Amino acid sequence: MEFFEPRINGDTALFWEGCRAHELRFSRCKDCGKVRWPGAYLCPSCLSSEAETAVLPPEGTLYSYVIMDKPFHPSVQDKVPYVVAAVDLAENVRILANILEYDPETLRCGAPVSIAFADSENYSRPIARLKGAAK
Ligand SMILES: [Zn+2]
Repeated sequence: MEFFEPRINGDTALFWEGCRAHELRFSRCKDCGKVRWPGAYLCPSCLSSEAETAVLPPEGTLYSYVIMDKPFHPSVQDKVPYVVAAVDLAENVRILANILEYDPETLRCGAPVSIAFADSENYSRPIARLKGAAK
């Protein structure tokens, strides 16, 4: 088991199944229209349990980030340095994603990013890429 393997449950399955299909899927409240993130059975805005699937565009803005230059777990021993980023998507959704390749000169808050997906045996996870970066 990889250290980063997500714990998928009823509230997060839609998101992780979407990642497996390389889509950013979220639950949208059918009553007030707000996207529920983190996933939840009840809408935190209006308490409705009615929901539909919203697929958000795979692009956003780098809200914040941290460069991890020391491995905090053996599973990431060969991956440092790597970036953990908070990315703002459409509709006030903020997700965490890694940025695997980056230029320290262009890594900055507010930078536009696109979202790709990294596939593992058991799941896929979102990866942010700085727009305009080589990869
Ligand atoms: Zn609602």
